[in-house]
Amino acid sequence: MKARLAPGQVEEIRASAKSSGVLASRYGVSATRICQIRQGDAYLARNREANRKWREAPDNRAVTRQASRRWRQQNLERAREAARESSRRWRAENPRKNSEQDRERSREASRRYRAENPEKNSETSLRWARENPAKALAKVVKRHALKRRVTVGDMEAIAAVYDRAKSASRVRCAYCGMYPKVGDRHVDHRTPLCRGGAHSAENLCVACSSCNLAKGRMTAEEYALACEGRGA
Ligand SMILES: [Zn+2]
Repeated sequence: MKARLAPGQVEEIRASAKSSGVLASRYGVSATRICQIRQGDAYLARNREANRKWREAPDNRAVTRQASRRWRQQNLERAREAARESSRRWRAENPRKNSEQDRERSREASRRYRAENPEKNSETSLRWARENPAKALAKVVKRHALKRRVTVGDMEAIAAVYDRAKSASRVRCAYCGMYPKVGDRHVDHRTPLCRGGAHSAENLCVACSSCNLAKGRMTAEEYALACEGRGA
């Protein structure tokens, strides 16, 4: 039980001569909690020391790391403040490693980076991605393609294919010839990137999701043959 005590109640508990059981039911907390409060800082210090030992035991490190990651995700604001506080402390303890000169240098570097990459500014780029979903998706795919050292074609033409998949009122699946609904349209590489296909408008087509999934790593020609074989 970890009920929150109102300000002042901790002092009342410390000052009271009543038994911990009585106080527990009066304040809606556990008797253990009452004991902790009465022992105050000594208890906390003892506990902190024991916790630290446990956390730092090699077997528990992974558990701890995972738990703190979870905590940070659930307490974004507090985690950020804690990180800021910890770097403030670190800077105070390591003045030489963080001279004004160093800080100015890194400020300058990030200024330069922001100026050269205006789209990397998170707010601007999020807004841009919301307003240009097809282009944003095209960019993500381009990044993947570049990572795989694939030839990348003209981005305008590529974005136009994504745009067609997203907003055209009617568009045929390149494979089965049906007219998939908007949410059911995929942009497919006729020759997959993993098979040496280029990321270019010429190699892109709009397909219905079931053709695209069935096609998998096949080229368009292989998929056509496979469909014939099935009598489809
Ligand atoms: Zn299809």
